[in-house]
Amino acid sequence: PYLGRKIKVALVGLGRYAEYMAAQMKDCEYCEVAALVSGTPSKLESWGKTYNVPLKNRYNYQNFDSIKDNPDVDLVYIILPNAMHKEYAIRAAKAKKHVLVEKPMAVSAADCLEMIKVCTANKVQLAMGYRLHFEPFNMEMMRLGQKEVFGKVRIVEASLGYFAGEKGEWRLNKKLAGGGPLMNLGVYCVQAGRYITGEEPMAVTAQYGPILRKELFTEVEETITWQLEFPSGAICTSTTTLSAGIDRIYASAENGSFELSPAISYGPFKGRTREAEFDFPTINQQATQMDAISQILLENRTMPEHISGLEGWKDLKVLEAIYKAADTGTKVKI
Ligand code: NDP
Repeated sequence: PYLGRKIKVALVGLGRYAEYMAAQMKDCEYCEVAALVSGTPSKLESWGKTYNVPLKNRYNYQNFDSIKDNPDVDLVYIILPNAMHKEYAIRAAKAKKHVLVEKPMAVSAADCLEMIKVCTANKVQLAMGYRLHFEPFNMEMMRLGQKEVFGKVRIVEASLGYFAGEKGEWRLNKKLAGGGPLMNLGVYCVQAGRYITGEEPMAVTAQYGPILRKELFTEVEETITWQLEFPSGAICTSTTTLSAGIDRIYASAENGSFELSPAISYGPFKGRTREAEFDFPTINQQATQMDAISQILLENRTMPEHISGLEGWKDLKVLEAIYKAADTGTKVKI
């Protein structure tokens, strides 16, 4: 439908998720990996070969800004450690490229606002890599909740955890990650509470869990539990941790319940209402997200709010409030 035109994507930060993303993007119809940005020359060389990216489309962090002169790039996808998202989103926007940012959008709500401002000023679109917004099981949870199929949602329980953590990795570094598992995994639970109720939380209470692996968790939390209160009276309780596996979303409404487990990983997922299981195909989440965002750009449509920078900012406001509530032991208004 676009006369063979594809959105040309520059990947920034060639780590684990970028590697997975690039491999999945081979299934994309509307976009392709066209440029690479990395601090590691050997990656630029090996990825360049794998993805047929010519030398002129390979950048390091120092010469990245010259991407503005490269017509082979439409969209810059930032897959760096969280605290670096802001700088590279802003540099990409100033180079007049559309921007796609991995979760969490940044390490503070103020940073998110700045990113939004610079993208608007430079007339480029800003999207979030919220892959679950294109995933059928999660879209069904949104529909069941927001359309009140079982009446008003009263309780959501959304939790995500993995047994993980290695000495020296950026996820355990407060400065690079902005926090612990709350920033990397908890953001999905906040999202679930928001997209099932279709509401913005008003207040939060939160508690840190014990530090069991003292050698790893010197700067960031290992486990955190929190409770969001929504205007309708719904509550969403969540735990996120790097010391146990959990991956589930459960919603209880006036006349029924609906749940996913697993819910947030790459699938396959399992879903059920109180009455019956529901099933959808397991999709390639990464390719689906990239094609959906690329079609929006090819059609010159505005990024829908639920996958825009505004959505990332709303989540960061909640994440900040969760930390404040856990730090102070008080209920925090959002
Ligand atoms: P990795 O550590 O695997 O990769 C990060 C890459 O960033 C590195 O390989 C490196 O690439 C580059 N980098 C630049 N500066 C630094 C630095 N100071 N420390 C570490 N790395 C640096 O992380 P992930 O790929 O797992 O995560 C990247 C982002 O993607 C995060 O924001 C994360 O939240 C998000 N993510 C999203 C997922 C999803 O499902 N949506 C899943 C996993 C992660 P280079 O050598 O090329 O410079």
